[in-house]
Amino acid sequence: MWSNNPQKEFEKLLKIVEKNQAITGNLNKKEALDDLEMLRLAYDYAFEAHHHQTRASGEPYIIHPLATAQKLAETKLDITTIIAGLLHDVPEDTDRTLEDIEKNFDPEVAKLVGGITKLGRLKYRGMERYAENLRKMFVAMSEDIRVIFIKFADRLHNLKTLDALLPEKRLRIAKETLEIYAPIADRLSMGSIKGELEDLAFKYVYPEDYKWINKILPKEYRIKEKYLKKIKEEVIKKLSQSEIKPKELSLQGRTKHLYSLYKKLLRPEINRDLSKVYDLIALRLIVPTISDCYGVLGILHSMYRPMPGRIKDYIANPKPNGYQSLHTTVFTDDGEIVEFQIRTQEMHEAAEYGIAAHWNYKETGGQLNSQNLKWINELLEWQKQIKDNNQFLQTIKFDIFQNRIFVFTPKGDVIDLPEGATPIDFAYHVHSNLGDKCTGAKVNNQLVNLSYQLKSGDIVEIIIDKNRKAPNPDWLEIAKTSVAKSKIRAALNRYKNNSNFLKILKP
Ligand code: MN
Repeated sequence: MWSNNPQKEFEKLLKIVEKNQAITGNLNKKEALDDLEMLRLAYDYAFEAHHHQTRASGEPYIIHPLATAQKLAETKLDITTIIAGLLHDVPEDTDRTLEDIEKNFDPEVAKLVGGITKLGRLKYRGMERYAENLRKMFVAMSEDIRVIFIKFADRLHNLKTLDALLPEKRLRIAKETLEIYAPIADRLSMGSIKGELEDLAFKYVYPEDYKWINKILPKEYRIKEKYLKKIKEEVIKKLSQSEIKPKELSLQGRTKHLYSLYKKLLRPEINRDLSKVYDLIALRLIVPTISDCYGVLGILHSMYRPMPGRIKDYIANPKPNGYQSLHTTVFTDDGEIVEFQIRTQEMHEAAEYGIAAHWNYKETGGQLNSQNLKWINELLEWQKQIKDNNQFLQTIKFDIFQNRIFVFTPKGDVIDLPEGATPIDFAYHVHSNLGDKCTGAKVNNQLVNLSYQLKSGDIVEIIIDKNRKAPNPDWLEIAKTSVAKSKIRAALNRYKNNSNFLKILKP
């Protein structure tokens, strides 16, 4: 918990940073000390700037930037980001300006603080505000992805101190967290930040259901927990007879992620019945190597019968956000159902911290060149074209925040699409030309309708007609993604300008 003592909180921050330095060990002694010295200067600067200010909760203001910086350090971010976290509210809330920060700190620090300040306060209300917020956020992310990490850390502390605000403001911040921040964290595969954001916002947005879940969960949870401890012992015993030495075998409760459990309970097939959630607690095994992962899977299946269709190999086929693990659900001898998750330490860190985990800030300066982040630039290009806020929100909800599926080309390349996407979307995501010349599609070797809804794991083959001049205007209805739709529109316009448009309408 937070103390009201800034000095103590600062020392806590120093400890986390020192620990990180020791783990990564990629700095020499002098560099490491320089970093700590800079951190101290930034703290003194922020302390002076926010002097005499208090938060709505009554705490000294400096506690907030300190909490933000601590979170960034816990997420193992670089020193530049942590310092920017300490300074993030200075230009907006104090009489010290961004120019003053530029004079006193590294240009990278000033750039990040500037990015956060630009996100600042919004003049809009309602839906306008929502759309504007998203647009600004993606612009900031494309300039330096670290801006969004600072924003997450800032928001986490604000959520923890939400009770001090008026109910209307409280609800707005909590809703915005569920609708904007958490989905972006998810898309960046920052599982632990996403879970924290959601759980903190949950009780303000759905107070009744929050109470309900907290009432029903403990009993069911205790029963499962007790049972799983027994299974854990069995697994430890069995593994001790093998070559595999797990680094960790832990019970992984969904109590840590209350909101995701809530969403699961709302699914029609579960219908608020907690006993139907098989992974209420899963057993997580962290092992040294990838081959150990498969080795453990084999051992588990020799002990318990696996449930058909529930063995998921996200190591060979990672989820679109990069998540890797093996999952299996088994029947135990007593007829109970238990889920196991098996992964290496690296996979575990990537799942918890996502792109924040292995980002080389020194080389990239926060620029987006990784494959995983291509969507941010795509989105940015595309959002410039759409001026209507309503249409913008509709499409973004579909393209970015919809659950993602991954399907394969016949050569085995993975294409990542939103749930509900069709072969038309697939074709345009692979290449404009493939879309424009498309006449049919095969999914898993079967001919399908072009409006067929693709599922994860489908192998999709597009049948083309080389002589085809332009896409069918009806496809605008079939295609679900903004990428496909805008490419269809562009092709139709080109064709219309080049020749007689009526030809396509009457093929
Ligand atoms: Mn702040």
